[in-house]
Amino acid sequence: MTDTRLKFPAELSGFAFGDARLDRSDALRDDADALLRLWPHARVIVLEADGSAFADEAGGLLVTRGAALGNGPGTAVFLGLQGEEAWFSVDAEVLPLAAPRRVDLRSAAATWPVAESSAFAFARAMQHWRSRSRYCGICGGTIEFRRAGYVAHCTQCASDHYPRVDPAVIVAVSDGQRLLLGRQTGWPARRYSVIAGFVEPGESLEQTVVREVFEETRVRVRSCRYLGAQPWPFPGALMLGFAADAEPDPPQVDGELEEARWFGLEEIAAARQRKGNDEDGILLSPRISIARSLIEHWYAGMIAAGDA
Ligand SMILES: [Zn+2]
Repeated sequence: MTDTRLKFPAELSGFAFGDARLDRSDALRDDADALLRLWPHARVIVLEADGSAFADEAGGLLVTRGAALGNGPGTAVFLGLQGEEAWFSVDAEVLPLAAPRRVDLRSAAATWPVAESSAFAFARAMQHWRSRSRYCGICGGTIEFRRAGYVAHCTQCASDHYPRVDPAVIVAVSDGQRLLLGRQTGWPARRYSVIAGFVEPGESLEQTVVREVFEETRVRVRSCRYLGAQPWPFPGALMLGFAADAEPDPPQVDGELEEARWFGLEEIAAARQRKGNDEDGILLSPRISIARSLIEHWYAGMIAAGDA
């Protein structure tokens, strides 16, 4: 068995859903006999229509084996192999089954082993795509899922549709001394984060970085560097993390953000230590997010530069 675990750049780590222990075993998606053999002993993530997963009394992922659910995978999605063990996901609505608890993806990200929360994120993203692929986008015909859940095949015009991922950039913008953070209307009070936005058709990632930062804050990016990515299945985004150097322009907001400003090292240092119930000062993104990893990366870089 190949070890498919990624070696992340040491400079960016710690966020949720980044575990690649699951070998997606693409070839097995076409091998119905092999999937049938793997099914009885497989781990199966059971998902409710709202995207929560079946959990045990303690709130951990419920250990459900294929054999307990039926004689074969049926409409289950094959997620991959972890060692010799197959992992599938299935919708609760097709099963006569109950569970002590249900856990949503954000809670799982904070409490489950990373391999399990990453598999849950993958399953959730597939569920979301499948639930929105009931009919063919070309002719309106009925869809039949093939390749263990990965191809939505139109029974009328024979078009194949594939799972969709929405790329977005997320950027730690610095003017060399300070970090640019903003807050969206509707966020929890005092919460600030790095700048993010979706990639548009016909755009390179670097162009998206420059455009989004300027649109949201009027700060001009001079250069940027890719640092790492996080699948963010709320519902189907892929967050592409960048560090950017920018002019020290005064931020101006107009639209998506209600406020944006530059933060110095001391303010970020204090915010890193702060808990949600502290009375004042800004709050940073939760540790499950790549947003927080980008802030931590900037902070560590500034500390290292100061010590040099
Ligand atoms: Zn069609």
